[in-house]
Amino acid sequence: MDECLTPAVLAPSRGFSVDVEVPITFKEAAVGFGQSVVQFGRACLSGLLLVGAPLQTGEVNETGKVYKCDPGSKRCQEIPIQRPPDAVNMSLGLSLAARDSNLLVCGPTVHRACGENMYVNGYCFLLDQSLRQLRRIPDTLAECPRRATDIALLIDGSGSIAPMDFGKMKTFLSEIMKRFRSFTLMQYSHRFREHFNFLQYRKSRDPDRLLRSVWQLTGATHTATAIQKVVRELFTSWNGARDDATKILIVITDGEKTGDPLSYPDVIPEAERAGIIRYAIGVSCDCAEN
Ligand SMILES: [Mg+2]
Repeated sequence: MDECLTPAVLAPSRGFSVDVEVPITFKEAAVGFGQSVVQFGRACLSGLLLVGAPLQTGEVNETGKVYKCDPGSKRCQEIPIQRPPDAVNMSLGLSLAARDSNLLVCGPTVHRACGENMYVNGYCFLLDQSLRQLRRIPDTLAECPRRATDIALLIDGSGSIAPMDFGKMKTFLSEIMKRFRSFTLMQYSHRFREHFNFLQYRKSRDPDRLLRSVWQLTGATHTATAIQKVVRELFTSWNGARDDATKILIVITDGEKTGDPLSYPDVIPEAERAGIIRYAIGVSCDCAEN
């Protein structure tokens, strides 16, 4: 770890940020120590680093510790953080940030069972320069959602997705299908294939049977048109979508839209009006293909 980064050091090294001439090494018998590091305040003057060890266990259900390290003495000292009782296995210190005169220490892996589903939440703690705890964000975790959830998964089967990655998508699908009650699947390229709707899924939640006939379509990548089809054709009552459910659309794509007659601004407002919450998961692309 570097004691002090200055523009004078960075400029000739073109961004090489580790001092290999006279390195300072901190050693701490904590699991994951060094996974996250941040200099804080005017680090070159105060010479202090904040170092996370997000896998280190402590008291019951306590995961993650954060240390203050002094390059002068080469010693580190744990910073006590007051955690709420429901911050179970939160991986404290997995992410750290310094901004202005404050520090943010986060533990983003608080697992919480809500009915059949497992939700992952987290807490962050705002510290001042003296490492005093100013506040907790959020103050309390959100309550379990009371509404049912309908999830539509839209997978990119165009030619730019490597067959191996398409296989990984199917594995991912079978894993998440084990966790949700109401699910529908469409694959797209420049063609569109509804593999099963909500009704068919509820009748048989066997991922192996439902995914057996899912083969990669190949071809161009009409992502915007596919989103429009999901909104108009899958989130419908005759396909088993429920009016009172939270609607979620997850798109898995490499992000390279090709040959599509529609653009995202053509279709996103319609999804917005239908109250569909949208997420995208990126996969690597072989962009010489479609
Ligand atoms: Mg493509």
